[in-house]
Amino acid sequence: MAVQERTLVLIKPDAIQRGLIGEITTRFEKKGLKLIGLKMMGLDEALLREHYAHISEKPFFPSLSKFMQSTPVIAMCWEGLEVVDAVRKITGITKARQAEAGSIRGDLAMSVSCNVIHASDSLENAEVEVKRFFKLDELYTYNKSEYMHVYAADELE
Ligand code: UDP
Ligand code: MG
Repeated sequence: MAVQERTLVLIKPDAIQRGLIGEITTRFEKKGLKLIGLKMMGLDEALLREHYAHISEKPFFPSLSKFMQSTPVIAMCWEGLEVVDAVRKITGITKARQAEAGSIRGDLAMSVSCNVIHASDSLENAEVEVKRFFKLDELYTYNKSEYMHVYAADELE
């Protein structure tokens, strides 16, 4: 049985500068996902070290950190059935110029670093990342009337 999940997406500085907020957000909306949290925020070194702990010792980390602090980002929390995996598929692989056509990175970016969005890579990480970027009262619960057309009835039980 599929389960409702939550995942974190960050619209990165390159996408903010290139005017791609609407284009990116539209793709998630059209997919049928539910937006339950959204805000603009500046990231600092401490938060980036935590968020990118798995790569914070890599030689490219200082320039990645500088890039991620270069403009505010948009943080979004999306909800849906098996949404962590679905969003990673829509996102495409890290090296954008090799990402599959049709994916956000495949269609909108060419760089390894400036790859327009972040998306949580596992359910476990998604839970930690959503908590890292959103307070409980910044996440909303509401009925999406569209759901009856997005999912089959037995998927919503
Ligand atoms: N990154 C980079 N150089 C690399 C690998 C990663 O600048 O060689 C950046 C890139 O912005 C990437 C982020 O670090 O999106 C996080 O890396 P990860 O391996 O977690 O990739 P993702 O999950 O974003 O596809
Ligand atoms: Mg990652």
